[in-house]
Amino acid sequence: MADFLLEMPKAELHLHLEGAVEPETLHELDPCTPLEELRRIYQYEDFNGFLKTFAEVGRRLRTPEDYGLVTRRLLERLEAQNVPVRRNHAGGRGGPVEGARSRADFSTR
Ligand SMILES: [Zn+2]
Repeated sequence: MADFLLEMPKAELHLHLEGAVEPETLHELDPCTPLEELRRIYQYEDFNGFLKTFAEVGRRLRTPEDYGLVTRRLLERLEAQNVPVRRNHAGGRGGPVEGARSRADFSTR
């Protein structure tokens, strides 16, 4: 059943890059911070907590290379879940991040 669900074609209609960063990817960006400490950032109980998590993740994304890494990891996860990627915008507080867009491997099917 799990394989069936993974292989079933799906559509991701709307997501925010910063909101789709896994703790393991944050750990790749910041290997000096223990993974368990990073996982605690993702523990929240309400929308305010979610916004704090979103801000904490965004605070750790500093360079175009950081955005490139989180974009690649996201695309790998989407592909593993059979979510075709047609179009994506990498945007931060300052607008689109061209570096992330140009470094990402946007595979389309
Ligand atoms: Zn949105």
